[in-house]
Amino acid sequence: MKSLTIVVPSYNEEESLPIFFDVTERVMSEKLPNVDYEYLFIDDGSRDRTMDVIHELAAKSERVRYVSFSRNFGKEAAIYAGLENATGENVVIMDADLQDPPALLPEMYHIVMEEGYDCVGSRRVTRKGEPPIRSFFARMFYKMMAKISKTEIVDGARDFQMMSRKVVNAILSMGEYNRFSKGIFGWVGFKKKWLEYENIERAAGETKWSFWKLFLYALDGIVAFSTAPLVISSVVGMLFCLIAFIAIIVISVKTIVFGDPTSGWPSMVCIIMMVSGVQLLCIGILGQYIAKTYLETKKRPLYLVQESNVEK
Ligand code: UDP
Ligand code: MG
Repeated sequence: MKSLTIVVPSYNEEESLPIFFDVTERVMSEKLPNVDYEYLFIDDGSRDRTMDVIHELAAKSERVRYVSFSRNFGKEAAIYAGLENATGENVVIMDADLQDPPALLPEMYHIVMEEGYDCVGSRRVTRKGEPPIRSFFARMFYKMMAKISKTEIVDGARDFQMMSRKVVNAILSMGEYNRFSKGIFGWVGFKKKWLEYENIERAAGETKWSFWKLFLYALDGIVAFSTAPLVISSVVGMLFCLIAFIAIIVISVKTIVFGDPTSGWPSMVCIIMMVSGVQLLCIGILGQYIAKTYLETKKRPLYLVQESNVEK
């Protein structure tokens, strides 16, 4: 059994992978020369030469294992496939673009092996180099999640983390289809140490996350790790009932006492618009949860393999 598996989800990373491999090899040979490790590249249905690059690396080094997906299944599926196919006693997940610095590997390995931690997470303490609007929404998301979810989701936490077999098995036991790793990592618990570092910009290529994709991902995270939106819509519903009840009494009394003629068509339209808007919103929220439940009940596989050199 290998001592460490380095899992690298890769989607269209033909430019980054060779650089990633060189830098990581250097760190491993200089700082952790006695560690028996392997790479596990997950090609997430790349459309560029990523798979050719991985083949070249595999021809060059005995340590390179890979799993290639039949199409793009997303990073979450790639992480799951990485953990499932890893043979190492410890596993670390790293991005291919060097935004997760390999220089931290020796320290992480030391912490897991000698300091008695099950897991070492990493978080960036700055977001420099990122569009300000993106940082702003990211901050809001984490603040809100802290309030509405019981699971701890740490601001700035990366998927870059090293974990022992115990933690890997715990994560694999969560077979949910709608995966939100930041939440899953927090949900499983175990003794965890955090390493902090400043944000590093991509080595090559470009980010796969548009603002819209991140927004949808955030919604997935909320639905997966909180049911607070359902509670909020129930509360809003009750509030509206209360307001309506008071309004009925006030208007009835007014009509009886003062004999007020029928009037107020514009205000009526506004009220109808608002109430039906709130209704649609609440149905929408409910729909999100039902949609996720629907996808879960289908029990589709998280990924399909096109090609692999992992022997299990
Ligand atoms: N990635 C993936 N599948 C996807 C999108 C991204 O495996 O559908 C990988 C990507 O190759 C990279 C990592 O996930 O190794 C992080 O992606 P990226 O750098 O684009 O995200 P960012 O760092 O900008 O959040
Ligand atoms: Mg990146």
